Amino acid sequence: MKLEVELRNLQNLIIECQRCPRLVDYLKDISKHKPKRYRDWDYWSKPLPSFGDPDARVLIVGLAPAAQGGNRTGRMFTGDRSGEWLFNALFKFGFANQPNSLRRDDDFKLNDGYITATIRCAPPQNKPLPEEIENCRPYFLKELDLLKNIKVFIPLGQIAFTQILKTLRQMGLGVPPLAFGHGKVYPLPNGQTIITTYHPSQQNTQTGKLTRPMFYQIFKLVRNKLKVRS
Ligand code: SF4
Repeated sequence: MKLEVELRNLQNLIIECQRCPRLVDYLKDISKHKPKRYRDWDYWSKPLPSFGDPDARVLIVGLAPAAQGGNRTGRMFTGDRSGEWLFNALFKFGFANQPNSLRRDDDFKLNDGYITATIRCAPPQNKPLPEEIENCRPYFLKELDLLKNIKVFIPLGQIAFTQILKTLRQMGLGVPPLAFGHGKVYPLPNGQTIITTYHPSQQNTQTGKLTRPMFYQIFKLVRNKLKVRS
């Protein structure tokens, strides 16, 4: 089966998922209580599929959809503040065709990049429960199985970093204990590399914990890593 079809089938499966009752209820609740500024929006409020270039060498792993962002528009990071930061950096370093994306039906496209998340349903207070992360891991495992060209993982934050490590170990890769921090570069035994960053959440960007130069630095490291390998 063609890779595009397999990825689409997986995404269709994800959209129907109801493994986490707390999150299913929460998504319904978000649609019923829209803030005024979005009251005309028909909220997606389902699990979000991943998206991007099936031949991507770079896999960006977020935490979870934002309740009023990706969960509203139906595409990861689309229409939220974290997405503004992420898409801006991806565009600047040649991984996207536009510097931002506000709706899922715009022409935003990733080039050599793919975006997924630790869990695919928006959790209350952006805090998934451990069992919800476990529930969602099989989808990530399947994505890693399908995306054969991945050379660099970019986990956005510690939870995504842990999800990557656990998934790779589950796949049988001997990954030693690794510490999270911003800008860590971890070569893996299979030739892939993890390059870490703080999550571009408002909590980090508004407090200066993550600045634009710090975030751009990550993509500079990624570009250099891809150059060495190509
Ligand atoms: S978080 Fe993942 S496992 Fe849980 S309901 Fe959403 S898609 Fe399913």
